[in-house]
Amino acid sequence: MPKPRVKTAPTDAEKRRLWAEHIAALVARGRHQVPPLNWRDRAACADNTHPDLWVPFSRQAGVNAEAARVCDWCPARTDCLVAALLDPSELGVRAGLNESTVNRLRTRLGTTDQ
Ligand code: SF4
Repeated sequence: MPKPRVKTAPTDAEKRRLWAEHIAALVARGRHQVPPLNWRDRAACADNTHPDLWVPFSRQAGVNAEAARVCDWCPARTDCLVAALLDPSELGVRAGLNESTVNRLRTRLGTTDQ
């Protein structure tokens, strides 16, 4: 008898990826545009207390768990991701996602410079 499939709750990383794909789809439809320049004023990382948390040692590196937690409640999270999707010069961890994930979404949107 086949085992019943157990549906597990998505992990925080999966929730972030799904949220980012949703935002990228809205950007593709023109529903999110370049955020106002002052969006960084609301950024939870703006105080620059721990800048290393958002700068991984490689593009494939995972996101530091502490940085991801801060990003999850950051009031500027959506603007941060939209800015990163539309501007390939935005590097490092953005909106709780590593550079590889952001680059994959940029490629879909055609906003990558590579
Ligand atoms: S979402 Fe994260 S990386 Fe983006 S502004 Fe907020 S704290 Fe900084």
